[in-house]
Amino acid sequence: MKPAAPLHPIARLPEEWRDALAQRGERAFAAKQIFNWIHRHGVVDPAAMTNVSARLRAALAEEGLGSIAEIVHVHRSADGTRKLVVRLKDGATIETVLLPAVSGPGARPEPEIDADADAAYDDEDEEDEPTTEEAFRGKTRVTQCISTQVGCAMGCVFCASGVAGWKRHLGPEEIVAQILLGRALLDEGEALRNVVFMGMGEPLHNYDSTARALRLLTHPDGIALSTRRVTVSTSGLVPEIARLGRDFNGQIALAISLHAADDESRSALMPINKKYPLAELLAALKAYPMQRRRRITIEYTLVSGKNDDVAEAQKLARLLRGMPVKINLIPMNPIEASTLGPPDMARVFAFQKALVGSGYSCFIRRRRGDDVSAACGQLVLLGAKPKVKAFRNSASS
Ligand code: SAH
Ligand code: SF4
Repeated sequence: MKPAAPLHPIARLPEEWRDALAQRGERAFAAKQIFNWIHRHGVVDPAAMTNVSARLRAALAEEGLGSIAEIVHVHRSADGTRKLVVRLKDGATIETVLLPAVSGPGARPEPEIDADADAAYDDEDEEDEPTTEEAFRGKTRVTQCISTQVGCAMGCVFCASGVAGWKRHLGPEEIVAQILLGRALLDEGEALRNVVFMGMGEPLHNYDSTARALRLLTHPDGIALSTRRVTVSTSGLVPEIARLGRDFNGQIALAISLHAADDESRSALMPINKKYPLAELLAALKAYPMQRRRRITIEYTLVSGKNDDVAEAQKLARLLRGMPVKINLIPMNPIEASTLGPPDMARVFAFQKALVGSGYSCFIRRRRGDDVSAACGQLVLLGAKPKVKAFRNSASS
């Protein structure tokens, strides 16, 4: 087995900072200060850590604490969505997207990213968390969508990342760096409230980095996201779903990319289904230690002629019967590498109607950020041949 990569200082939790400092003969109180600088203030350059001793600052710089990622482009869409193209130390590029909640006259109720609409939560949950929610009063709530890998190994046929293929895992520090960079780009009056692991890559294929990033993002001395506001989206890696449930006691919201209601059509869209077929996936969802009043989000990308028939909706309704779920329908965003595409909206509405008629909460996601290729499934590798039609917009700007 390959030895685990050494932990980057940005990926250390406060107790690990204490240990690391103790080994150097440094006092423990600096641990909280350094963690604060990095995760609360987004400062990773030791030279700027003014309350840390000069000797320790030099030692931190020597062990590699410093910038690991930079924003190379910000593409702002007409609807306020911002796509950040981020370059990592090895030159690889990833993308992360800021999605401000849409409000005001004419706003439609269903945003692109479900956590933004509290999709994974029932509204009455809000009352449980008055202090955290207070911080968002009068603010525009922003959801950030982050990547966990460069490319993706899962090979879903409708997905640009899947078609591009897997290049490498991101380290936990690279996952968290996307939030640090994104937070610095928030507009006046905006506050980061939700994080969704729905960018490039399969988060549970990179379990260790994802789990550590979750701990860092939700640590009260750092970015301090509420665990209930973090959603991990997965194509259905059964053992890791169980592990996530165990490791976080069901606190992390789960979104499952289902996309079909029988094994034959699901395997045709998502090769991972051959490894973990529907029966196993549903058993894992039923065993997930769900928190009170919470629901699993089921994502269903509608692909014309593949999974969009009303009969499929009825099959889906039977499959999910009795489970605490809500369903998000996403008309497929076309990608250049494939001739597959979305059904017409009449079929999308008919599909939704069948599910609502069976008693499910079911929303159609609007496409946001289409003009900057930031919509779902359109996150691709820069430098690779652009595979997304709308990508030309961003590449030329
Ligand atoms: N790998 C994880 C998370 C990233 S993909 C997963 O698959 O869940 C985030 C969501 O976008 C998934 O539901 C995925 O199926 C969907 N998606 C991917 N490509 C898409 C496309 N071209 N159109 C619409 N949705 C897409
Ligand atoms: Fe990977 Fe998700 Fe795309 Fe499938 S949909 S290829 S799992 S990123």
